[in-house]
Amino acid sequence: MKKMSLRLALGATAMALLITSGPAAAQQKFTTIGTGGVTGVYYAAGGAICRLMNKDRAKHGIRCSVESTGGSVFNINAIRAGELDFGVAQSDWQFHAANGTKVFEKDGKFPELRAVFSIHPEPFTVLARKEANIGKFEDFKGKRFNIGNPGSGTRASMEELLSAMGWTTASFGLASELKADEQGAALCDNKIDGFFYGVGHPSAAIQDPITTCGAKLVPLTGPAVDKLVKGAPYYAKVDIPGGIYAGHPNPTPTYGVLATLVASTKVSDAVVYELVKVVFENFEDFKKLHPAFAHLDPKSMVKNGNSAPLHPGAVKYYKEKGWL
Ligand code: GLU
Repeated sequence: MKKMSLRLALGATAMALLITSGPAAAQQKFTTIGTGGVTGVYYAAGGAICRLMNKDRAKHGIRCSVESTGGSVFNINAIRAGELDFGVAQSDWQFHAANGTKVFEKDGKFPELRAVFSIHPEPFTVLARKEANIGKFEDFKGKRFNIGNPGSGTRASMEELLSAMGWTTASFGLASELKADEQGAALCDNKIDGFFYGVGHPSAAIQDPITTCGAKLVPLTGPAVDKLVKGAPYYAKVDIPGGIYAGHPNPTPTYGVLATLVASTKVSDAVVYELVKVVFENFEDFKKLHPAFAHLDPKSMVKNGNSAPLHPGAVKYYKEKGWL
């Protein structure tokens, strides 16, 4: 709380603060990463990056902090407004922000948006209350379903799926807009019958309702999904692997996107360079900071899911490594 108000009082973007105490007066820079709900994987990704950055603070003078936010679309808009330096965002919404399409049509293209790297896969994950007797997504017609909070990438992607199916929010008996951190408890408290969440695995947000009230993963397949995947470079069919969650020994077929880290041209090359350097030079440690990062591969992170141009600070490091 204290840290938060200090940060707000100083303003959000890469501020320079003169540390005058001590003989080695050094200039410190602050940088903030916008993430998602605290039970999701974005928050862990931001936390892992900042942890590695802050360990090397004496070398580069940058203090990294993480903010829990409403998710992808919020993060991109906050970067555009200069309120955040970095943000985690789904690859579909990175694409649409760069192109000024879908939810970003109103504000137009965001030409200063820059990709840093992609992170973990995010399968669109549908979870149902055990007692709701749901076998497939269509069974939610007329039921109580959480479509996600405005500002989340999840919500924006949900709207794409509904429109591909010829559904609207009125197709549900109730379409709630709970935040990702609230939907698991709402499911187990019988306030909703299911929810949709674009998230990496394993995630506490999925694990908790499965262990607490026996919630079930629901496959997301069919003609609408086929149409979406065929028509967009950022979607791919994926499985939520079996054996990750109790009672789910087999893979659950669905489709999904990649989580990506984005910034804008307003963030200096030096800060982006230090961030990517610290992540890739400590990559084994980074992968251990969350199980969803276990299979990450640097070359794919540089190549896949990035539709905005790469930030020049990142390009510099990737060229040094021979990855570009
Ligand atoms: N993909 C989600 C979103 O942008 C966030 C997932 C997470 O927090 O791990 O809404």
